[in-house]
Amino acid sequence: MRKPKPKSYQLIRGMKDVLPQEDARWGFINKTAENLAQSFGYEYIETPILEDTNLFVRSVGEHSDIVEKEMFSFADKGGDNVSMRPEGTAPIIRAYIEHGMIRETQPVRLWYNGPFFRYDRPQAGRYRQFHQFGFETIGEIDPIIDAEILLMTNQFFQKLGIPVSIQINSNGHPECRARFLKVFQEYARSKRSMLCDDCKKRLNKNPMRIIDCKEEGCQTVASSGPQIVDHLCEDCRTHFTRVLEYCDEVSIPYVLNPRIVRGLDYYTKTTFEVWAEGEQEAAQMSLGGGGRYDGLAEDLGGRPTPAIGAAFGLERISLRLIDRQFQKDRPDVFIAQLGEKAKRKSLGLMDKLAKEGIKVISALSKNNLKNQLEIANKRGARFVLTLGQKEIMDETIMLRDMDAGTQELLDFRKVAEEMKNRMKDNGISVKEIKNGDEPKN
Ligand code: AMP
Repeated sequence: MRKPKPKSYQLIRGMKDVLPQEDARWGFINKTAENLAQSFGYEYIETPILEDTNLFVRSVGEHSDIVEKEMFSFADKGGDNVSMRPEGTAPIIRAYIEHGMIRETQPVRLWYNGPFFRYDRPQAGRYRQFHQFGFETIGEIDPIIDAEILLMTNQFFQKLGIPVSIQINSNGHPECRARFLKVFQEYARSKRSMLCDDCKKRLNKNPMRIIDCKEEGCQTVASSGPQIVDHLCEDCRTHFTRVLEYCDEVSIPYVLNPRIVRGLDYYTKTTFEVWAEGEQEAAQMSLGGGGRYDGLAEDLGGRPTPAIGAAFGLERISLRLIDRQFQKDRPDVFIAQLGEKAKRKSLGLMDKLAKEGIKVISALSKNNLKNQLEIANKRGARFVLTLGQKEIMDETIMLRDMDAGTQELLDFRKVAEEMKNRMKDNGISVKEIKNGDEPKN
């Protein structure tokens, strides 16, 4: 009897593989993100994928789209209700409170990069698992900090080479918002027939969401209605004016947009989104967004702790870069070998070079030298080290500089040291920390 053909499996709807073809572009985005966070003195934090479901209900808001429709939530085997994180800020504030970071010098500056999960309707640029890079500055209320976050946001996209506009607004603090919502709700009720079905429901439960609904009728209602910036208290108005002044000081290209209210309950005062410039669908597909959340720590059981942050979607950024070419990291050395003895020695040499921080590749399973050199060429190796029978006997190794086209014989025992020096000469940094090295401040 013939064995039945095993079933083959496909990606779950809304999921995406990051394939080697995307590797160079993905690497460029991730490195740009990490360098940015480090240049501004942010420290890395990683929170778990799973959190108590209530953490998100209490922070993001029970009537938000995320909590109402989009969370991957389930009861675990012990019966606890857990959710796969849909966003990064609430878990970080949970960690800030839980680990007593309030005792550290404030503000605490943290950055993260990882997968998030929302059961949204999938389409290009919208996935059910996606990646966000984000940063949070926790424990400072001064509006200069808002400008710092906006400055970093702007610099991030400058470094990526993506022209964007930063759409900015103020949501005020909860009392401003409550005052505004009363006025807005009354106005929106008078336009009920123009609203989409979702927004008709939102009228009572969460009227703020009507303002950033993407449906045409709702957009018309929202844009001709009252605006929150006209209902800010003195303190919130001054804060917003200061943020804009600081942004002007460093020429951050912002656009005042009264419709940036963001879909999450915890936002207060400054809110913003990053839109790709000149794109019609920009509003539907923001590249990032953020804002202040001065009440969140208190809502989650901590001390009052003003804070602000931003998050950026890596898949959407990657889509923006699709037409650009990125060079994969070039291998420093390719080891070519001929004969069984050379093959064995090559394995040890790979170990030695890699330990020195040199990027080393080989094709040790191949015996034909021509095949090996073709691979070295294709991968763009900077140097090729060739070990043949003669070299084994003489305890030497042949070094070929692929860029210069020159060749020379090296002492096999000194090859690791020699290659390390050459990497330095070529401006390729080989990092080394010796035992007892003091970290430099
Ligand atoms: P948000 O917290 O919803 O403002 O999300 C911040 C950023 O994450 C957005 O601007 C997007 O770039 C990205 N993002 C949010 N949801 C998704 C998704 N479902 N798929 C891909 N990227 C997303």
